[in-house]
Amino acid sequence: MRFATFVHQGQRQVGLVSPDGQTVTPLDLADAQRGVLPLIEAHAAGAPWPVSTRAALPVNSVRLEAPLPLPRRNLWCVGRNYHEHAKELQGSVFKGNNANPAAWPIVFTKVPECVIANGDEVRLPGEAVSVQIDYEAELAVVIGQGGKNIGRESAMDHVFGYTIVNDVTARDVQMRHQQWDMGKSFDTFCPMGPWIVTADELDGQHTRVRCWVNGAARQDGRTEDLIFDIPTLIETISRGITLYPGDVIATGTPAGVGMGLNPPSFLKSGDVVRIEIDGIGTLENQFV
Ligand code: MG
Repeated sequence: MRFATFVHQGQRQVGLVSPDGQTVTPLDLADAQRGVLPLIEAHAAGAPWPVSTRAALPVNSVRLEAPLPLPRRNLWCVGRNYHEHAKELQGSVFKGNNANPAAWPIVFTKVPECVIANGDEVRLPGEAVSVQIDYEAELAVVIGQGGKNIGRESAMDHVFGYTIVNDVTARDVQMRHQQWDMGKSFDTFCPMGPWIVTADELDGQHTRVRCWVNGAARQDGRTEDLIFDIPTLIETISRGITLYPGDVIATGTPAGVGMGLNPPSFLKSGDVVRIEIDGIGTLENQFV
């Protein structure tokens, strides 16, 4: 199933998207202000899937929002998690980083307020703040059943579904500070969508992640290339920290980011970044 948050006739609603992505059927949720989150919480608590008797609407007649317009807390993100991407940034982001990359994943967060929808504009922060804005196409895991100290054997039982995230990054700011959160959390720096696909419909461990800038192919990876796979990420992040329904884990980006090009190429006003993940759909945003 595919669950979307959208605005129709001035009202935020949650709906079930048809398998072809052409229509969305509004669901009767008591609290649509939080997007798909109440549905995830109810499902984690054992509630049946919601039903709807309302008429389906064409997706192009509604305004899609991020499926989780304001996630309940910071988004978990993983750095350097595709083998090919780790290689391309050896001379820049990871220069002088002698930690064993195979031991533990790099985990940082983005603030929830930077989430925007498919089709929304990403606002460049201005040259006084950053001149190195980059894209990162990523498969994002949405947690269903929460838990702490989750073992990798049962980790996939905690996955509600998947969506797409563009982990937009200010490279100069990312590298200026000891922690990455600032360079990853500028306003509008987390396009998310177009919807959440449930885990029974998509095998996130075997899918393809692609990205284009102004129509030119930049990234093309498969999640089989993850250094730390999804069960390992859930196991690691839940060590001593409770995960909650609706938590988001952005799993890292494949090779082909702007920083990795020779010479590096960063985003400018007017650029359009389009991300596709097989089994989910397309997330497209213009930078202004
Ligand atoms: Mg990333």
